[in-house]
Amino acid sequence: MNTQPHPLPLRVGVLGFGGLGQAAAKLLSSKQEMILVAAADQKGYAYSREGLNTQSCITTYQNQGTVGYLEQVGTLSNNSIQDLITTSQPVDGYFLALPNLPNDFIPSVAKQFIQAGWRGVLVDAIKRTSAVEQLLAMKDELQAAGITYMTGCGATPGLLTAAAALAAQSYAEIHKVEITFGVGIANWEAYRATVREDIGHIPGYTVETARAMTDPEVEALLDKTNGVLTLANMEHADDVMLEIAGICSRDRVTVGGVVDTRNPQKPLSTNVKITGRTFEGKISTHTFTLGDETSMAANVCGPAFGYLKAGQELHNRGISGLFTAAEIMPKFVK
Ligand code: NAD
Repeated sequence: MNTQPHPLPLRVGVLGFGGLGQAAAKLLSSKQEMILVAAADQKGYAYSREGLNTQSCITTYQNQGTVGYLEQVGTLSNNSIQDLITTSQPVDGYFLALPNLPNDFIPSVAKQFIQAGWRGVLVDAIKRTSAVEQLLAMKDELQAAGITYMTGCGATPGLLTAAAALAAQSYAEIHKVEITFGVGIANWEAYRATVREDIGHIPGYTVETARAMTDPEVEALLDKTNGVLTLANMEHADDVMLEIAGICSRDRVTVGGVVDTRNPQKPLSTNVKITGRTFEGKISTHTFTLGDETSMAANVCGPAFGYLKAGQELHNRGISGLFTAAEIMPKFVK
């Protein structure tokens, strides 16, 4: 067991280089404690021990469709994640900014890491309860493999679930956790997977029907709603995460929100309300509201790397397995 703390900066890889992957790369470029050494998308990957140039990665991806075209550091591949893992280049931790389409895709990527004998920290911003449950079932396997896996570490689940876990401390009993999110993005193409996965929550749609929709079909649906998706009673893993953290049963947690795909301004302020009874018998509600100026990317990628740092500290102490955002405090990345 390696108990030697790894010296900073941590060598980080980002899997998936769409909306969140690119935002993650931008965020990392201002950090001293983490350095982006690897990036992968559906058609290729790039690796540089000295660190990838964020702007070149983004420009190459946007103009040519994959970071695999990057000179010297890029490799074209239709099996980029597997190929990147098996290059055995040192990476301390990966942020999985991948679509979870189908609903077992991210768990299947976790299996690839296990099978490759890779050791380190993995972080996801996965959303569905049923997806987190698949990872929960892999807890022992992850532990035996020496992987410290942090799941549900975006905004919701993630930041807001952690806020609920913290707020719960004032109460003897938690009655209700109500998450309401507002997302504003200028165009849906910047976050195709996020929008498709949200469509999967609309009555009459499933993950599979949303996944199978062509881009023109998504556009036609958005045209009907003026670009706005209104979501209620979503299958969101905040519920199972708060349940396994021992805070409240999952039926007391609700998640809904409004996504405007044609306006970067939030249609409403993202918030979580935690209602409970104090030990003196008073019923009260704590509310945690995110600043309207903070983007979805800021509220997902910030926590994801905060949890990656926390995961690395666990890993350095020889602790592996599966952890959720409701169980561990994220660490601030400088
Ligand atoms: P996107 O569609 O913009 O980009 C997806 C990227 O993944 C692309 O670069 C694509 O090439 C790559 N990719 C797809 N299949 C791949 C494969 N087999 N191998 C390698 N790369 C592959 O996605 P996005 O909108 O940035 O969303 C990413 C994920 O983040 C989604 O699952 C979404 O649900 C999640 N998300 C979570 C939260 C949260 O708060 N928890 C919020 C927003 C988004």
